[in-house]
Amino acid sequence: MSNRRFTAVKEALSHLPLESNASPSKVSEYYGINVFNNQAMREYLPDDVYKSISENIEKAERIDKRVADQVASAMRAWAISKGATHYTHWFLPLNGATAEKHDSFFSPSSDNSNIEQFDGSKLVQQEPDASSLPSGGLRNTFEARGYSAWDPSSPAYIMGNTLCIPTIFVAYTGEALDFKTPLLKTISVIDEIATDVCQLFDRSITRVYPTLGWEQEYFLVDEALFHARPDLVMTGRTLLGHGPAKGQQLEDHYFGAIAPRVKAFMTEFEVEAWKLGIPVKTRHNEVAPNQFELAPVYEEANIAIDHNQLVMVVMENTARKHKFRILYHEKPFASVNGSGKHNNWSLATNTGKNLLSPGHTPKTNLLFLTFFVNFIKAVYRHSDLLRAVIASAGNDHRLGANEAPPAIMSIFIGSQLTKVLDDLEKKVKDRKMTPDEKTELKLNIGKIPHIILDNTDRNRTSPIAFTGNKFEFRAVGSSANCGPAMIALNSILAEQLKEFKASLESAMEKGEDKDEAIFKILRDYIIESKPILFEGNGYSEEWVIEAEKRGLSNRKNTPEALLAYISDSTKKLFIQNKIFTEKELKARWEIRHENYTKVIQIESRVLADLAGNHIIPTAIRYQNNLVENVKGLKEILSVEQFEKQAEVQKYIIGKISEHIIEIRQDVQKMIEKRKEANAIEEADKMAFFYCNEVRPYLDTIRYHVDKLELLVDDEMWTLPKYREMLFIK
Ligand code: ADP
Ligand code: MG
Repeated sequence: MSNRRFTAVKEALSHLPLESNASPSKVSEYYGINVFNNQAMREYLPDDVYKSISENIEKAERIDKRVADQVASAMRAWAISKGATHYTHWFLPLNGATAEKHDSFFSPSSDNSNIEQFDGSKLVQQEPDASSLPSGGLRNTFEARGYSAWDPSSPAYIMGNTLCIPTIFVAYTGEALDFKTPLLKTISVIDEIATDVCQLFDRSITRVYPTLGWEQEYFLVDEALFHARPDLVMTGRTLLGHGPAKGQQLEDHYFGAIAPRVKAFMTEFEVEAWKLGIPVKTRHNEVAPNQFELAPVYEEANIAIDHNQLVMVVMENTARKHKFRILYHEKPFASVNGSGKHNNWSLATNTGKNLLSPGHTPKTNLLFLTFFVNFIKAVYRHSDLLRAVIASAGNDHRLGANEAPPAIMSIFIGSQLTKVLDDLEKKVKDRKMTPDEKTELKLNIGKIPHIILDNTDRNRTSPIAFTGNKFEFRAVGSSANCGPAMIALNSILAEQLKEFKASLESAMEKGEDKDEAIFKILRDYIIESKPILFEGNGYSEEWVIEAEKRGLSNRKNTPEALLAYISDSTKKLFIQNKIFTEKELKARWEIRHENYTKVIQIESRVLADLAGNHIIPTAIRYQNNLVENVKGLKEILSVEQFEKQAEVQKYIIGKISEHIIEIRQDVQKMIEKRKEANAIEEADKMAFFYCNEVRPYLDTIRYHVDKLELLVDDEMWTLPKYREMLFIK
């Protein structure tokens, strides 16, 4: 075993499950101990300050300087009691990662005693320079400062020895540079209008907030094998590698027994997550070998997003301890499924009601239907935007590849609700309805089953599905921050509800009865938005044709999808609702293009290096062996014997030459195209060029490399193969 690959495989096989260090006590005894939650606040804050900060948080109000000072000092005391020495403003910059800059609590004073430095002003605002984070041109000017500001609605927590304070991140000029700032705006916009609409039905509803339950898919790879694959290290996915003889065909991984090494890893990160107050709940094997899923109990959307980002980091750190690497990439391995992050989304009220949960009475069901139908209409209007927010180079491998939702946006609602909508459409009359007709309608609505039966066979091929009491946005990529998806869903529904309310008010001013007016508006919405409802197989060819007939877009790649990011309807949506300024929107649009371009650029460079340094030299070495063999045979055999016995060798020698010639030519062409691409000035044109002119070479080169993998002596192949990486014991 001399080659690097064998050394790595040997090392991987020697890795045993770590002794689980899971806390032996009950979860309830340590749940949230590392969070500055209500309990900690109550303990560390004077009663009146606790009351006032709780109220500020609940009502999303500005926090008074005196209160901020006291919270800061309580937070510091609490954190130090837990061994923290540093603090950081934690934020979610537009590169999709998390960012932190640690400062020590202590700074030496003149008399050599240490003074703990952390007051209200440090809690509330910081100025992490962070000028290298993406800004889409918002900070290129004379003023590059960026500010982070405390988000009191997401509790501070301790990681290692650092107090982490969730914050928003904005430019000196006020433009948002993160995912949280616009998200918080949408949360407040949807609260306002959804509460207004609820008030039409139920006066006790005074607050509405979005809820999110994400489902995180990921792959694990042994660390030794990971390091022996430069493509995994540099790009998070395998750029080459022939599919293993056995992949996921036997469907033996899904929900299968979890391997002991993996289980030890899961147990450990779950304990860490619970200590951070992250309600992780389910874990299971996914469809592909080495693929897993983690899901928590849903939470208020802002906190759920912070928790998702945080848990991704916790998992990554824990994986390292267990000699694994996590792959959050949407498609780390060809020929087996990729990973997504289902976003289960709904709206909850201060009265403990889920607005997307059918109720028991006609009145509560009319409230349900109002939100349900408005959502459908909103998605219909903004389906292109929803496609745009989930677009990324990684997700392009998944969407429409018959393993994940298609790139065509549609909604699955199940047969029972389809029938309810059909009924509504047919039974609502244009003329004034008779009392009997209205009663019948209400009775029908009252019969909407509380538990939707056909959700057991939920249509897995739909990008957006109604699953009983929530909409599940399934097309989100596994590596993505849920922010953009949530920002879009909240905003499109808010815009739609505003229109609904205006129409209702105008009908009522004309003397129409409220319920009857609601019925009519909803019926019109149902008729109008029908094209977006699809119950069939989203993977089928027929759907592609049918969707086109219905006028739905099918945007196959990121640059195409991003056209909707700054379309007129998107601009109107975000600018009128004060979520983004035009400048902010343009900046985000630019960052998305830049990100796409950079990903393809890096993949293309890494593949060229691998082809030049690993693949071609290995193939030539093996070809030399064959050539030696052929020469030897020629020496010892008669002409007829030689013709026959050297046939296979000569064939392989020829094939190897064919493939390496193709590889070499394509690498050269790809490099030329990259040069051409890099001369383009505009971010969108460059992304399109990378997509259409550079990206195809990743596939053609891979094709020949994978053929060589099958031809070349296994002993000589330097890169760990799929069969070695994909089956953790
Ligand atoms: P799956 O889609 O894998 O079959 P489930 O339907 O059981 O899983 O639930 C998936 C997720 O839906 C969970 O993370 C759960 O917390 C979330 N969820 C349940 N109710 C809501 C809700 N009202 N709002 C947001 N998410 C919810
Ligand atoms: Mg799901």
